[in-house]
Amino acid sequence: MRHNHLKNQGKVIKSTRNHYLVRFRDKTLKCIVRGKIVGKSREDLSTVKVGDNVILAEIADDQGVIQKILPRRSKLSRTVDGKAYREHIIAVNIDQMIIIMSIKQPAFKWGLLDRYLVIAEKNKLRSVICLNKIDLAKEEEYQEIENIYKKLKYDIFCTSIVTGQGLVKLSTALKDKVSILVGHSGVGKSSLLQKIEPATPVRISEISEKTTKGKHTTSFVALFPLSFGGYIIDTPGIRELGLWDIFQDELKQYFIEFQQIQDACQFNDCKHLNEPGCAVKEAVKNNKISKFRYQNYKNIYDDLRAAPYELIKRR
Ligand code: GDP
Ligand code: ZN
Repeated sequence: MRHNHLKNQGKVIKSTRNHYLVRFRDKTLKCIVRGKIVGKSREDLSTVKVGDNVILAEIADDQGVIQKILPRRSKLSRTVDGKAYREHIIAVNIDQMIIIMSIKQPAFKWGLLDRYLVIAEKNKLRSVICLNKIDLAKEEEYQEIENIYKKLKYDIFCTSIVTGQGLVKLSTALKDKVSILVGHSGVGKSSLLQKIEPATPVRISEISEKTTKGKHTTSFVALFPLSFGGYIIDTPGIRELGLWDIFQDELKQYFIEFQQIQDACQFNDCKHLNEPGCAVKEAVKNNKISKFRYQNYKNIYDDLRAAPYELIKRR
């Protein structure tokens, strides 16, 4: 029975109005859902999502029927800002967020890196930081950045499409994983992908960009299969997806180096801003917490909204 399951297991890579595209062995099948899908509930296992591992029956060379959704191990979701706050699942079974930053041209954006990390933490995704274009900078210029994040146990490495440095590390990081690739435009996402996977469409995000005019639609999230194993999520971008809906009071949870230290704050609900007896601020003073990271915490905090009453009530 179990063997049979594995044999007929595919992965949903795209969802359209009429059907799902499912990667099955080396093919992509157009699939429909027939009848009721049985799944263990708690999470919504009655609707097929991009990233779902499914059991299917092949009914033609390029067609199939989805029969069952296998348990999900993670999800990327956003809160839909409507009358009631509802969770909207964007994709499931994502392993990690690959954050591509450039050292120069465009300049390194420290605040943006920490914003991505916050989003990854909120969605319980592993983060991998890739510092690109290091051929344009001296080692001293990025060593400090590397050290700060290494100390925090984030995976971080440097790449260059000019010298080829780090490209093997990047493909190793992507291999057999489902990764969401993020980064400001111009940092080298397409170039890097092109180097490690020549089969990549020139611009992986081309299709998505056309759809970001009006309301963002999550039906355009798609998985792009890598020839050496693994998938990349092709999305219109974090902002367009509305993932950036974090409220002020939850932000401190997502700065991982605050976690141990903040138990020692005088106030339980210390925001680590102007409170007396703040252990986090003390740690910044003693260089136990990076002053850059703390500054980003304050900047991000100022950008965020206070949680709406309806959400606070529910916590
Ligand atoms: P994307 O918008 O993130 O997909 O960025 P692109 O891949 O389009 O790259 C933007 C520009 O940066 C292009 O002109 C690339 O040739 C250049 N570029 C990408 N990676 C590197 C690198 O490692 N070193 C240098 N010097 N230029 C790079
Ligand atoms: Zn504090």
